[in-house]
Amino acid sequence: MRLKGKTILVTGGASGIGLATVERCLQEGAQVVLADLPGPAGGLRAQELDEHHPGRCLFLPCDVTSTDQVDQLIADTVAQFGSLDGVFNNAGIGGMNPADSYSDEAFLRVLDINLTGVFRVARAALRQMYQQRRGSIVNCASILGLFGQTMTAAYSTAKGGVVNLTRTLALEAATKGVRVNAVGPGYIDTPLLAALDANAREALIDLHPLGRLGRPEEVANAVVYLLSDEASFTTGALLMVDGGFTAGKS
Ligand code: NDP
Repeated sequence: MRLKGKTILVTGGASGIGLATVERCLQEGAQVVLADLPGPAGGLRAQELDEHHPGRCLFLPCDVTSTDQVDQLIADTVAQFGSLDGVFNNAGIGGMNPADSYSDEAFLRVLDINLTGVFRVARAALRQMYQQRRGSIVNCASILGLFGQTMTAAYSTAKGGVVNLTRTLALEAATKGVRVNAVGPGYIDTPLLAALDANAREALIDLHPLGRLGRPEEVANAVVYLLSDEASFTTGALLMVDGGFTAGKS
């Protein structure tokens, strides 16, 4: 039970990597707030999980593009469970467009969710964690936080920003008992990739030396480690979970 007694918040927790992380945190003994956009999915997932882990999984609606909703989310989490020990800053969207046809609106939307959303949640969490003088924040970056890729001007910009935001927050938080790290998933088999046809999927598989896409729970395992006290001397790190993608070409 690596997270026993800890209160963990997961944004974008109703699907994919976020949902797998909610499940892993519950298995490790945490109380978990599953936050996601308003709508039936989050409430249903949390209800199912709470039946297996009574009183330990709660859905709270939150759009990470709203500062008011994010600040309220942190306040409600603390009101419900008494503290905030860990955050997985996971909510994100995709976005494929050639740069010369990206509209301001579409570009800024990706940044607002994938980068500024991470900042909003981290800022509100840090305020609480500084008072407690303990906490661990894990931000969701990507292989595209380290590499460019055609059609991803907004997404790769956002994820590159998440990597450096993580380092800066780690430095600011280091003397206040709070650690801030990031995970860098390769291509993971989640609804985010659902639109791909078979050829595109095979092409993505070929990019990973381990010869397959990742599974959501493989990212969740890395997040659990960074949230836990086992990672007590790790801050400002980017932990790749990418099947060897960033190791280089063979
Ligand atoms: P999913 O689409 O399965 O899950 C993302 C979740 O975030 C969804 O529940 C989505 O809700 C929610 N969400 C979207 N916008 C907002 C918002 N404004 N506020 C709150 N929640 C929101 O994606 P993944 O699990 O694949 O992705 C999770 C994270 O992992 C993202 O940050 C992504 O960039 C990153 N990642 C994913 C990779 C992959 O290959 N899958 C690779 C590298 C990184 P809804 O479904 O209603 O839109």
